[in-house]
Amino acid sequence: MKTDVAIIGAGINGCAIAYELAKRGMDVAVFEKKWIASGDTGRCGAGIRQQWATEENAILAKKSVEIFEKLSEELNYDIGLRQGGYLVAIHSEEEMKQAKKNVEMQNRLGIPSRIIYEDEIKEIAPILDLDGMEAIAATFCHTDGHANPFKTTYAYALVAKKLGAKIYKFTEVKGIKVKDNQIEGILTDKGEIKANFVVNAAGAWSGEVARMAGVELPNKPVRKEALVTEPIKRTFDCMVISFKHGIYFSQQEEGQILGGIPSPEEKTGYYFEPTFSFLKHMAFMLGKYAPQLKHIKILRQWTGFYDVTPDALPILGKTSIEGFIQCNGFSGHGFMISPMVAKLIAQIICGEKTALPIDNFSIERFKGKIFKEKAVVG
Ligand SMILES: Cc1cc2nc3c(=O)[nH]c(=O)nc-3n(C[C@H](O)[C@H](O)[C@H](O)COP(=O)(O)OP(=O)(O)OC[C@H]3O[C@@H](n4cnc5c(N)ncnc54)[C@H](O)[C@@H]3O)c2cc1C
Repeated sequence: MKTDVAIIGAGINGCAIAYELAKRGMDVAVFEKKWIASGDTGRCGAGIRQQWATEENAILAKKSVEIFEKLSEELNYDIGLRQGGYLVAIHSEEEMKQAKKNVEMQNRLGIPSRIIYEDEIKEIAPILDLDGMEAIAATFCHTDGHANPFKTTYAYALVAKKLGAKIYKFTEVKGIKVKDNQIEGILTDKGEIKANFVVNAAGAWSGEVARMAGVELPNKPVRKEALVTEPIKRTFDCMVISFKHGIYFSQQEEGQILGGIPSPEEKTGYYFEPTFSFLKHMAFMLGKYAPQLKHIKILRQWTGFYDVTPDALPILGKTSIEGFIQCNGFSGHGFMISPMVAKLIAQIICGEKTALPIDNFSIERFKGKIFKEKAVVG
């Protein structure tokens, strides 16, 4: 079998890239060891936030929101986009200084974030208790929000297939063939496929996949846990987050509260088991942020992995091996920036000028001084 581009991983990024390439007439095939959205995409909060501390992430997120806003129409499939905003707690004067800098930078980029105080916070999310949150204010951006990660990924995959892309589920990539520093193809548990380009969109397994071609990535898989409660009456539309506490939670359309927080037992590696300490810590913090939630039942908890780079920015683009393209290292924000990321990867493969500069996402950046994204949660 032969294809122009072999994509490893059918998460949101692999499927969105397949769509962007198929749209450009490329012969593309996606190889997925399990099923579509079986990785982090199907385990994530699917929040969409433009309130970042680095311009790189803020621009990627803003451009992605512009795409998300038209995506249901473009793909002719409802992706469940809801723009209820993101409310980011500010806990101290020190944090206020950073928040002001972030908002100034975000506004300069056209992101409509602003600082809000108690009255407005209570208006936007009456469920919150500022004393319990230990918050003095918040930043808010009304165009941030949430989309359904399953619907969005399936929509990209369905339309990619209609345009000619192939998606091979339950097909694990076991090796990458390289000759004279040039990609030749991949080896799967079902056979060999020749390809001119291989895209590593394997999420938390991207380090292992890169190693198949002799490329070392600095990415580390870190176990992250999340939970969902029974549904309650809808009272707020925004995602609530805190960089200090690492907590994030929102209310789903059907009324459930979905969220996460770093577990006291958080560790690097492929640990799938959910922990009781996460459950206890999250329940305690949720009760502090929104005392009304103290008595609701938790229905389910699960684990996923952040694919974490040293600066919390993704790795996008070419490597020293001709035709081996990286699209990974998304930490806790690979869903929200995927629409723009997919366009950039397709532009790189098709030899087009990229719509945004991508040097700051290059794997080469780790050879020099890096600037860490501070605005992370989960
Ligand atoms: C608890 C939690 C909450 C999160 N919340 C948010 C959020 O609110 N907003 C946000 O933007 N992001 C969030 N994230 C991060 C987000 O989920 C990821 O960054 C994003 O889903 C990455 O998508 P992906 O397509 O790159 O990877 P994945 O969805 O992980 O897809 C990679 C795929 O590659 C497959 N694969 C791996 N190795 C192989 C192989 N050898 N052969 C074939 N297939 C292979 C895997 O099975 C997997 O399906 C969260 C993550 C977690 C864990």
